Amino acid sequence: MDLRIGEAEPTAEERVAVDALLGPPSSGWDGGTRDPVRDTHVAFGGHDARARRHLLLPALRAVQSRVGWISEGALNYVCTRLTVPPADAWGVATFYALLSTTPRPKRVLHVCDDIACKCRGADELIARIEKTVGPEHHAPTNGDPVHVGDFTWVRSPCLGMCDVAPAAFLQEFGPEPRETSIGRLDQAPNFASAAGESSALRPGDSSVGHWNEYRLLTKRFGAVDPTSLEDYKGAKGYQALKLALEMGPQAVIDEVSASKLLGRGGAAFPTGRKWDAVAKQSARPHYLVCNADESEPGTFKDRVLMEGDPFALVEAMTIAGFAAGCEHGYLYVRGEYPLAEQRLENALRQARGAGLLGDDIMGRGVRFDIEIRRGGGAYICGEETALFNSIEGLRGEPRNKPPFPVQEGLFGKPTVVNNVETLMNVPPILLMGGAEFAQIGTAQSTGTRLFCVSGCVERPGLYEAAFGLTGRQLLEMAGGVAHGRKLQTVLLGGAAGVFIRPDELDMPLTFEDTRAAKATLGSGVFLVFDDAIDLNDILRRIAAFFRDESCGQCVPCRVGTVRQEEALHRILVGRTLGRVNDEVALLDEVGMAMKDASICGLGQTAYSAVESAIHRLHHFGKPTT
Ligand code: SF4
Repeated sequence: MDLRIGEAEPTAEERVAVDALLGPPSSGWDGGTRDPVRDTHVAFGGHDARARRHLLLPALRAVQSRVGWISEGALNYVCTRLTVPPADAWGVATFYALLSTTPRPKRVLHVCDDIACKCRGADELIARIEKTVGPEHHAPTNGDPVHVGDFTWVRSPCLGMCDVAPAAFLQEFGPEPRETSIGRLDQAPNFASAAGESSALRPGDSSVGHWNEYRLLTKRFGAVDPTSLEDYKGAKGYQALKLALEMGPQAVIDEVSASKLLGRGGAAFPTGRKWDAVAKQSARPHYLVCNADESEPGTFKDRVLMEGDPFALVEAMTIAGFAAGCEHGYLYVRGEYPLAEQRLENALRQARGAGLLGDDIMGRGVRFDIEIRRGGGAYICGEETALFNSIEGLRGEPRNKPPFPVQEGLFGKPTVVNNVETLMNVPPILLMGGAEFAQIGTAQSTGTRLFCVSGCVERPGLYEAAFGLTGRQLLEMAGGVAHGRKLQTVLLGGAAGVFIRPDELDMPLTFEDTRAAKATLGSGVFLVFDDAIDLNDILRRIAAFFRDESCGQCVPCRVGTVRQEEALHRILVGRTLGRVNDEVALLDEVGMAMKDASICGLGQTAYSAVESAIHRLHHFGKPTT
């Protein structure tokens, strides 16, 4: 096949970065020296090279980390090694916000300007950064278009650190690349040195609270060293896996079904049913995917879980893999979560060393292992089929459903895909029994729920509570509205969720009660806005977020998110073409089209928060006819 590789050559540094991941070329098929005689008989041929397409994103990330951007020469080299046409790879490289196809400084600070950080002074902070460092993307070049300055900063959508807002994420490229999550950036002495260890995020920085002593998922926080397998084992770690191996796959699925566990990623699908559907598929192999790409504005629970109790996730994935007949699991971790990735890599290494992963788990002949994949900065990759495409080395664009992942998922095979919080419930379920777990919470919402409480609240953080507590109780648990101010509204469920009024705070935060109230728990976001927050600004940011994150694949979403932002802008600057009512009618119409005709959840929920501000809060006044 003629890949039409261009003439630009990679630099030595770019080659080193790619080879460190893929190994040196082994034949003419993957960028080595062509030998017409030998290459017809080599063990590694064109088919093998093409089968490594799934390494495209890791390879591009490797170049990015080492050099700071992906040049044409580097792209050509990656394409040669993986047998991917450069036009195709270019489409992938330009899809992800953390990858750059133009020169970038060696240090890039991503400063969150999303809704939770706005509530904690992000706009003022950004104004200070602009004053001291210069405008966004500014990096003095001295007239040289290739060699840019050493440091720049860029605005970022939610970084998943709303509990320590205002937040930032620093990438340092080079032979020893480094990534640092930075909480409370406003307290850093100076922004260019914000990379210092002193401002690096620590798990203990976040409040972790619980209600009525229910601590299923956060019980080891602060009590167990998250880097130590021995500590984890000392706190009942790996007892659930041992039990699962004794029970057998079907009994594990039955127990999870009896617990009535519903997925915590937003869709609330019964976990046991999903596992059962994959286990019954005759096509092989089966895959397990843990969706740890949480990017919903206001959500940070999975990050805190992975940083605080990584072995529990590894154990839970092993149980899920065993139950659904999977031998290989992928853990797709958000690209902006460096500490979580480190902790999980460490946990995987130790688990393998102790025979808790691999070909003979606990000496029982069970085979299962886990591979970590890092996202590249794309919200849409949290959508399960977009995530599959991302792992496969394609643009992270959602697929049409059906077929559903349980039938044809990753690499076209039956796939279980579960969110981090969902999986973390599995070991407690097995240890206490599904029936007992089902006694916690309410009849339809069993177990506990993690709530990401942030915004204008006294103690932002992660709160675990049995289903059934109300919004008011949750707010009280987090210390109430900050500085004793008046509550304006709460955004429930994230940017794809809904604003609720202060008089709706007594609603129990369960799947059924929120559904009945035409609200949603979504990913557990509880974002508090006091009466000093300019809600117009928040709505505009939400609309900009969806416009920016739409993958652009289908028209209702691609065009609708732009039209939504434009209409809001016209209302908010007071330059409406007609009356506000006309703009609201237009928003409703566009919103309905997005909801009804978009391929995936992003487009289907892009109007949700704005709609609730209009029709629930009557933010623009009561519509008149
Ligand atoms: Fe892409 Fe939006 Fe369509 Fe989803 S709804 S596939 S994000 S364009």
